[in-house]
Amino acid sequence: MDNKELDSLFRPKSVAVIGASATPGKIGHSVIKNLLDGKYEGQIYPINNKLTEIQGLKCYASILDVPGPVDSAVVTIPAQYVLPVAEDCGKKGVKALIVITSGFSEVGDTALEEKLVTISRSYGMRVLGPNIVGYLSNTDKLNASFAPFLPLKGKASLITQSGALLIAIDAASYSRGVGFDKLVSIGNMSDLDFADLIAWLNDDPNTTCITLHIEGFKDGRKFIEQCRKTSKPIIALKAGVSSHGAAAAASHTGSLAGATKVYGAAFQQAGAVQATDLDNLFDRTLSLSLQPELKGDNLLIITNGGGVGVLATDAAEKYGLPLKFAPKDVQEALKEHMPEFGSAKNPVDMTGMAGNEWYKETVRYSLTHDWVDGVVVLYCETAITNPTDIAQAVYDAFQESGVKNKPVTTSFVGGERCEAAMKWLVDKGIPAYGAPDVAVNAMAALREYAQIRESISKNSEMKLVGDKGTALKVIAKARAAGRDSLTEIEAKEVFSAYGLPVTKTVLSTSEDEAVAFANKVGYPIVMKIVSPDILHKSDAGGVKVNVKDDKSVREAFQTIMKNAREYKADADIHGIAIQEMAPWGTEVIMGSINDPTFGPTVMFGLGGIFVEVLKDVTFRVAPVSCSQSKQMISEIRGAPILAGVRGEAPRDREKLAETICQYSNMILDLGDEIKESDANPILVYEEGQGVKVVDARIILKKK
Ligand code: ADP
Ligand code: MG
Repeated sequence: MDNKELDSLFRPKSVAVIGASATPGKIGHSVIKNLLDGKYEGQIYPINNKLTEIQGLKCYASILDVPGPVDSAVVTIPAQYVLPVAEDCGKKGVKALIVITSGFSEVGDTALEEKLVTISRSYGMRVLGPNIVGYLSNTDKLNASFAPFLPLKGKASLITQSGALLIAIDAASYSRGVGFDKLVSIGNMSDLDFADLIAWLNDDPNTTCITLHIEGFKDGRKFIEQCRKTSKPIIALKAGVSSHGAAAAASHTGSLAGATKVYGAAFQQAGAVQATDLDNLFDRTLSLSLQPELKGDNLLIITNGGGVGVLATDAAEKYGLPLKFAPKDVQEALKEHMPEFGSAKNPVDMTGMAGNEWYKETVRYSLTHDWVDGVVVLYCETAITNPTDIAQAVYDAFQESGVKNKPVTTSFVGGERCEAAMKWLVDKGIPAYGAPDVAVNAMAALREYAQIRESISKNSEMKLVGDKGTALKVIAKARAAGRDSLTEIEAKEVFSAYGLPVTKTVLSTSEDEAVAFANKVGYPIVMKIVSPDILHKSDAGGVKVNVKDDKSVREAFQTIMKNAREYKADADIHGIAIQEMAPWGTEVIMGSINDPTFGPTVMFGLGGIFVEVLKDVTFRVAPVSCSQSKQMISEIRGAPILAGVRGEAPRDREKLAETICQYSNMILDLGDEIKESDANPILVYEEGQGVKVVDARIILKKK
């Protein structure tokens, strides 16, 4: 899509309002009033076949009667009249429909919504909505919505799926001092979705940060791809974090993959910073829209109060920016601007004696010092200082330093005078917050943004290396037998086709065969039941490890068969697998699901109680590059176990990362076939010794 295509939507020269009304309280009345109140400078054309004039504007019976061209049309009439009107708009040459009307897919009428899109597309029109509040732009003085006024001016642009929230954020922008250039209500996303709008906003000179409130996507992969191409910070708040489809999941991975975890992974892969709640969305939007990214970890905190300094120090650690002592030269220079009992270490505590000059000198010096990557300035209201003067000093320091690529956030703790000082600072482009931990969190967002972009640039897509043909043959055979799951032996054949290191396994159907194979594989061996009806083999008493001789093979064969029959009398038993016994290694698990929004998605964690009890797992949408796989390995809580603790040798994380990466390629390549899969466990050996998949499971998509 050419981004320019949406210019008529975002920056229309003329707007028609279909269903314009003279009756206050009606949406068609509000939209006209809001366009007028906002002082929109383009043409406004009210459309209503019963009136000749609305709020001083000439009214037209049909859009086809409008004399000039119309860029966008705001549709407010009831759903049942929308299609013929869309047709007329198309004939008129309207470029975009802003469909406020509800009563489409959100109430189950998907057909009506699809028809609207089909008609619009046939005329080359794009559709925003339906079921929205509308669209607002400060730059264009355009309030094409029923939200009562344009938001506080600012540099962020917001897209939200909730109309009610848009109206609330609009109002809150003033009380919270967080400004927006554009507010977009996205509604049912019948045509234009998050990715389309983000693409346009990325080119918008009046938007520096894209703020998203998301309930759900239709096409998660399109979103990820678009975000990765975006050069501006994106901050996302995901609503609706309860798990989806988890109850019905057949596998471990499925039950662990709540919406939160998969969305979290997707945001990370998309390069979007996350907000934890609505407050956090505002706070982080402010810093991301006003300040540059934080390029390194050297954060300096400057304060006039030890108490807030400690709160900020705690927050810095909590939000991933633990403070380091400033280097000697910084400490010496800063000592000049504090009494003897002050501290220049970090936090830099100038004490309650700090006035404008000390603030100015300290902030200015810090910004210009190479060691410092960013500065959080804290101020506690005192009797001897005026918050406005301190704000001025911070701003002057920022200006005089000439440093534009290091972020500054501030917190002024106090009463109304502090409020006023912070408002003034925000107007000057410096984020200010009422609490020190919030100023630090806002700074952390700038660091997360830098890190996330860096990791994206490192993660070029992986090339697929796998023998899909062989894998498909194995799958076809199982399907032909009327099955939608593979046995361990079959699953391992598929894994092998993608180069994954599995234990050598052969199927025996009699005791004699079992003994013969056992001798071929070499003792000790592992024996396992092979039945499409028994997915969890140990539960059925279907696994014997460390079988050491012929006699034990015969015994094990009988026991396993007996156990299996007791477990499930009518189980279809293929035989017993004779498997090489892998030496002991650290147990980890890899799993996959086919997420309804993002498609093939990989899970990784430590095996045993770590996954079962602690649910210490992490997700990524496939494909996962090797460096992303390494991130997965290092971000689980149990990571130190793989790194080597208490004198234990570190595990082969290199090979493990390669395995995760390769596995992600497999589930993506076979995305049309595999519903869920796992390798549980994989044994991980010492560095250089590799890994071994000892159990594999694949559940097929129903066809
Ligand atoms: P299931 O998960 O269906 O119960 P597994 O194949 O995972 O069965 O086997 C159960 C356990 O036996 C594994 O977690 C592992 O500890 C051990 N095991 C299985 N196969 C092997 C093998 N080839 N080498 C070493 N240990 C094995
Ligand atoms: Mg297993």
